[in-house]
Amino acid sequence: MDTKGIAIMKKRSGFEARKLAVTVAVSVSLAAIIQAHWFSEGAGGRIYRWRQAVADRESMAVFSGTREEKEAGSSAQVQSRKAAVSEDEANEIYRENSEQLVLVNRENPLSPAYDAMLQQICGGRLEASSRLYGDLQAMFADAADVGHTFWIASAYRSREKQQELIDEEADALMAEGMSREEALDEIYRETMPVGCSEHETGLALDILVSGNMEMDQSQEESVGNRWLRENCQDYGFVLRYPEDKSSVTGVDYEPWHFRYVGKRAARFLKNHGLTLEEFYQLLEV
Ligand SMILES: [Zn+2]
Repeated sequence: MDTKGIAIMKKRSGFEARKLAVTVAVSVSLAAIIQAHWFSEGAGGRIYRWRQAVADRESMAVFSGTREEKEAGSSAQVQSRKAAVSEDEANEIYRENSEQLVLVNRENPLSPAYDAMLQQICGGRLEASSRLYGDLQAMFADAADVGHTFWIASAYRSREKQQELIDEEADALMAEGMSREEALDEIYRETMPVGCSEHETGLALDILVSGNMEMDQSQEESVGNRWLRENCQDYGFVLRYPEDKSSVTGVDYEPWHFRYVGKRAARFLKNHGLTLEEFYQLLEV
């Protein structure tokens, strides 16, 4: 499926008379899902404060309590919360399997040398890392046992696909009179730069509940999505972009985006309420 064509067609319908003929056979609902994903994942860029969060480590709620507590000067409470998270354990978990804990965001592009260890999933419709395959099968089987079924809307995406999307969108904007620099500034407000999408690791999955193909906040309202959010850590997955952590992750809440990190890491992150960015702040690397 030509995702870039769909995304751009939907975004700039006037420009795409030619592409319309090519893509007319594509399901509108699937196009909407893909478009929603491409652009939603980068939407947090407008509120992106990861750099500041790192610089101001004390402001990160997980280490030091809420901002209100900080401002109230309750340092004893702050210290006790810090002690509850074992940096030694975090480092041990990281050393066990740093490859599947790789951090990818706007500040940390994925190395081109990273081996995603891809294999086909969903009957060959998608590719994902073989690192997650067994646990994904177990998670879906156990979910099905209690009545929940899902549709994986997106898994691995190559950086070539991301580059094609950006280039075509830039061409369209330049055709409207923007310079290339202006076009790229506009695009990067809502689209991850090449190398910065976690989907390039093969470890990220966009999982929709059966019966709701909308990749939006309505996913959260389903019992299937709640089951995933409550149980995914037992299969090595985490909800990567939680609602209350967008200032840390730089990405708005995505109840459908799950990231494989392995069971021990996933339980550690869940137990301590940590994002992957916050986990990395515990490491000595
Ligand atoms: Zn995603």
